[in-house]
Amino acid sequence: MIDITLIRGDGIGPEVTDSARKVLDILTDDLNFTVMNAGSDMLEKHGTLVPEAVFESIEATRIVLKGPIMTPIGEGFRSINVMLRKKYDLYSNIRPILSIPGVKSRYEAIDLIIFRENTEDLYSGIETIVDDDTRHAIKVITRSGSTRIIQAAFDYAREHGRKKVTLVHKANIMKETDGLFLNVGRDISVNYPDILFETLIIDNMCMQLVLNPNQFDVIVTMNLYGDILSDLCAGLVGGLGVIPSANIGNGFAMFEPVHGSAPDIAGKNIANPTAMLLSCAMLLDYVGKKETAARLRKALQSVLEKAENHTADLGGTRTTTGFTEAVCMAIGGVTR
Ligand code: ATP
Repeated sequence: MIDITLIRGDGIGPEVTDSARKVLDILTDDLNFTVMNAGSDMLEKHGTLVPEAVFESIEATRIVLKGPIMTPIGEGFRSINVMLRKKYDLYSNIRPILSIPGVKSRYEAIDLIIFRENTEDLYSGIETIVDDDTRHAIKVITRSGSTRIIQAAFDYAREHGRKKVTLVHKANIMKETDGLFLNVGRDISVNYPDILFETLIIDNMCMQLVLNPNQFDVIVTMNLYGDILSDLCAGLVGGLGVIPSANIGNGFAMFEPVHGSAPDIAGKNIANPTAMLLSCAMLLDYVGKKETAARLRKALQSVLEKAENHTADLGGTRTTTGFTEAVCMAIGGVTR
């Protein structure tokens, strides 16, 4: 049995994690979930956004499947998501961007993957009030932090037969911080002569992605640019409802959709669970259950191919539970 901490989150978190649970229950008997609640409900009931039991469970299982959690302003955390990534040093945020046949978008056959550094940059949380007129935020970039994420991107490229790594920066302006990231990238690329290496400035990268996303393969970048590029790329393949992610560190891993808790549609049974289900497939890959992951992706694919199964974000009318049932049927089971 593989022990997993499942955090339901808030907003649409409970809806998409319940969908994931139903689908995974049909796919395999090998996962043992400890279900945890965190987020605004916990704050109301227990006076804390993340009860201690959540951390205890994560430390015991070391694998987390997580729904989105919103962080109310003024509750001690800047962001629960950022706090968890930092606490468990989940430095590698991996976001595959794949066109889905049947899902309308401006481009076809996009297959790229973003490696976003997950622990540094302007997310360091170091902000100061200098005076009434002035605020400072500190951008932290380290050689060690840059090395491990860029190395992860190159290793992934080599293992998965990818041809090119594109490093994204703004070193023409941030000469020390982005300059360090860029130089580390150049040094590491020498060890991978089989993989093309290119560097692009973030503004040009945004334009190139919109003009011709198919020119990219593996993208590696710092935390903030990675956040923005992921949403841009999500828009190229159908939106936030279809983009999963893995946060990987040394010995800890957390899988979650890229989207937030979407309070505008919470509780309406209309959220698209695809991003969450694809995050489950990434989890299954991580625990070595590659065949099960492939079955899940195949089932999802067959469901998404039919417009009648699309949820509102993809222009359809299918509900979250209806979509989940369709995936369960495609796997060959019924919801329990
Ligand atoms: P955060 O700052 O927490 O990342 P956000 O403000 O960027 O969140 P999201 O919560 O990700 O925003 O939502 C952005 C938009 O995308 C909203 O209109 C939301 O309804 C929509 N959206 C996000 N996820 C889904 C989903 N799974 N299904 C359908 N629509 C979604």
